Amino acid sequence: MRYQSIKGFRDIFGSNAKNFIFIENTARKIFRKYNYQEIRTPLVESAELFLRSIGETTDIVEKELYVFEDKGKRRIALRPEGTACVVRAYIENNLSQKYATQSFFYIGQMFRQDRPQAGRFREFSQIGCEYFGNTSVYADIEVILLAKEIIERCNVNDIKIEINSLGCEKCRPTLVSSVKNILRKEFNMLCDDCKRRMEKNPLRALDCKVDGKKFSDIKFVLCDICNSEFEKLKTGLSNAGVDFAVSNTLVRGLDYYTKTVFEIKSGVLGSQNSVCAGGRYDNLVKDLGGAPTPAVGFAIGTDRLAEIIEKTSCRKQEEYYPVFVAAFGNDKTLEYGFNILRELRDAGIVSAGGYFTKSLKAQMRIANTVGSKYAVIIGDEENKKKVVVLRDMTAKSQKEVIPQTLITMIKNTDSGD
Ligand SMILES: [Zn+2]
Ligand SMILES: [Zn+2]
Repeated sequence: MRYQSIKGFRDIFGSNAKNFIFIENTARKIFRKYNYQEIRTPLVESAELFLRSIGETTDIVEKELYVFEDKGKRRIALRPEGTACVVRAYIENNLSQKYATQSFFYIGQMFRQDRPQAGRFREFSQIGCEYFGNTSVYADIEVILLAKEIIERCNVNDIKIEINSLGCEKCRPTLVSSVKNILRKEFNMLCDDCKRRMEKNPLRALDCKVDGKKFSDIKFVLCDICNSEFEKLKTGLSNAGVDFAVSNTLVRGLDYYTKTVFEIKSGVLGSQNSVCAGGRYDNLVKDLGGAPTPAVGFAIGTDRLAEIIEKTSCRKQEEYYPVFVAAFGNDKTLEYGFNILRELRDAGIVSAGGYFTKSLKAQMRIANTVGSKYAVIIGDEENKKKVVVLRDMTAKSQKEVIPQTLITMIKNTDSGD
């Protein structure tokens, strides 16, 4: 029996794993600069949380949610996105009272039982943030700048930022009814999804891949307040040097957004070109049982960013070549060899070795294959004298040194960390 990973799931290793680490490290650094705290929430939540927050007629909940019953007959879901989870944690742990500034970020896996297609996985990773308790348009501007900086610091530069405003409780109904009018007129021509959406979730038709074009002329008539905030958003972004476009059909696939929505796209990925999406959701905390709390956030698709980095080879090379420790001979010698390996690592030097049951020749072959610039060779003779042989693999020269000098010598060259 050979085991295989489940369809739509994959292993991440080698260069791809390095891309993920590079992206995540970059994001952590930038979040710290903006004073965002990391939050880690469970991968599983009660299914009800997502029905309530994301909306029952969205694709995520209708078709893609992983739901199962646990032994206690509870309906459990694997989280399909991070916002609902962070909001649940925010309310449950009373974070609004615990912290004077409430900006949080998360990095982790999400699960959606999507139709399998190239570059799309059922387990994928997102980097996201949620900024609570600030109604100011400057909070919207901040999260857009933050997302842009993370993506650009990952050396992805050909990006497009699209923004839109979905309005508030006052002006949204007007928008919804004008969309409904178009849907009614075109009803027989609509795809099945849009026919179903018409009553419960008509705005979703705007970003339907089949019918989206029918709405390109639609005008978003915002109330005075929403309109003036949207103007401030545009001015603020321009002042911050952000290049952006207003897109009338940008609605996002989730029910909870209000006012600002945005997306960041990259041309490298063809049709699946969105690498980041976000917006404001001023009603969600209240809808999920908390006190009324404004909030704004985004999620970046780490897998897509990693794919761009791989395609454009724009990750900074972080290759390193370990010092290789080879020992052979009696047990005392091998013990001595392993101590040297530990001391190198304790000194912060990237080191490999310890294949002491292999012949010296086989050990040196491994040192060559991993690209070591230096090998440390230890036989019974060296153990007796408490020295080591330091071999320069490029110059093919070697000399005897004492362990204390070994570390200084290697540190003085470029093969440390
Ligand atoms: Zn409004
Ligand atoms: Zn449609």
